[in-house]
Amino acid sequence: MSNSDNKPTTTDAGIPVASDEHSLTIGPDGPILLQDHYLIEQMANFNRERIPERQPHAKGSGAFGHFEVTEDVSRYTKAALFQPGVKTDVLMRFSTVAGERGSPDTWRDPRGFAMKFYTQEGNYDLVGNNTPVFFVRDPMKFQHFIRSQKRRADNNLRDHDMQWDFWTLSPESAHQVTWLMGDRGIPKSWRHMNGYSSHTYMWVNAQGEKFWVKYHFKTDQGVECLTQEEADKLAGQDSDYHMRDLYNAIDKGEFPSWTLYMQIMPFNEAETYRFNPFDLTKVWPHGDYPLIKVGKLQLTTNPTDNHAQIEQAAFEPNNLVAGIGLSPDKMLLGRVFAYADAHRARLGVNYKQIPVNAPKVPVNSYSKDGAMRINSVSDPVYAPNSKGGPKADGTRHPEDATWSASGNMVREAYTLRKDDDDYGQANTLVNQVMDDAARDRLVNNVVGHLLDGVQEPVLSRAFEYWRNIDAAIGARIEQKVKAARANQP
Ligand code: NDP
Repeated sequence: MSNSDNKPTTTDAGIPVASDEHSLTIGPDGPILLQDHYLIEQMANFNRERIPERQPHAKGSGAFGHFEVTEDVSRYTKAALFQPGVKTDVLMRFSTVAGERGSPDTWRDPRGFAMKFYTQEGNYDLVGNNTPVFFVRDPMKFQHFIRSQKRRADNNLRDHDMQWDFWTLSPESAHQVTWLMGDRGIPKSWRHMNGYSSHTYMWVNAQGEKFWVKYHFKTDQGVECLTQEEADKLAGQDSDYHMRDLYNAIDKGEFPSWTLYMQIMPFNEAETYRFNPFDLTKVWPHGDYPLIKVGKLQLTTNPTDNHAQIEQAAFEPNNLVAGIGLSPDKMLLGRVFAYADAHRARLGVNYKQIPVNAPKVPVNSYSKDGAMRINSVSDPVYAPNSKGGPKADGTRHPEDATWSASGNMVREAYTLRKDDDDYGQANTLVNQVMDDAARDRLVNNVVGHLLDGVQEPVLSRAFEYWRNIDAAIGARIEQKVKAARANQP
């Protein structure tokens, strides 16, 4: 290609520049001139390329695609995106939780499974994980949990002692820790893992009937995982293994897909269910609430600008559309504030005007001004007004995804029900889902983790934690750790 076929380089103001290679100097050997504004623009832009990484879920990537409803679930929700045959554009981002932006994709960690549906009723975001449960059930503990999984203050190193200290003092973590230390704690790729809402949400149908629901996106590629040894090797060979896998698969036309199933609980059953159905550390057994098929999610298009479309993507569980609401899950209610606030801190108050975050429907809000505003504001700038400005209409758009609550203001754990405990579902996972080989891998994974820097008194508490999950597994872990320690020089 000759020079004349290329577009001319310009400054950010669109002014063609004379050189991509040489700064402006007094003679070829002379000093650089301050008025070389193009050089200065290049240096200044470079210094400002990085924005604060997410805290947590910093490392990740994603793609665009669509969600298509293949079944009829209109008796459960009036949400336009879940009506029969509707196809909605989607953005997805996958991530690890604890590591920084450069950390290896194959570290043992839950994976983020975040979705933005550009619906005809505004953006709907579902910010899930590849695990159906979580480590804590009250947002007061979330910050402390994440700090315990990240880096120490003194040496800036990650520290298994700190992780197990938090976990063993937070027995509600047992189910999620068992899941994490099992095979699914390291997926083979983002394409080979399921996604779960984890939280319970509400669906409301056209007649105003309410249901409690959980989302399960089951991978059509099949669940596949890496062993600890495979993952450790890959972490050294290719720290971007999962990001590369997704990009290359879509690039080759191998479009990954997931089938969405719902668990649906009639509204009134929540009150009398045998455990608190809003507790994020628990699943609803499939036997009680079988999976109901809804449709298919498929990713077809790679980003062309990872920073603009993925790094600046802002998912937030408060983006809910008509027919979908929250639930009394305290973690979910906390996230409804935390996510939007994180985006304001990281991207600025007008982050919803960044194209990837902007809805594909008109925005008629009264938000005004602020840094980096792009959409223009017009009068009237207040409501109510008699000047023809936007007007909320509660009859056409009712706030109907609600539930009643009463009681004194307290700082207390959820009221315990008959089957509410911290270890029961972890025990079921170990004994009724895993086979002997999976249990052996679980024991080895935990032993390897504990041998890597966990000290007394945390170590003894870890043995007790596992004995509470399952006596035999706890005994095996203790015996193996003690034997390995005895053999250490
Ligand atoms: P089921 O036998 O119906 O379901 C067990 C589920 O466990 C499977 O459907 C599969 O989820 C998942 N699973 C399979 N292997 C593993 C593994 N190595 N690590 C983690 N999960 C695995 O029983 P229940 O519904 O009664 O649940 C029993 C236990 O299964 C629960 O205590 C929970 O630990 C675990 N589980 C339950 C889920 C639920 O929503 N009910 C979801 C995931 C795990 P999938 O079909 O989603 O791939």
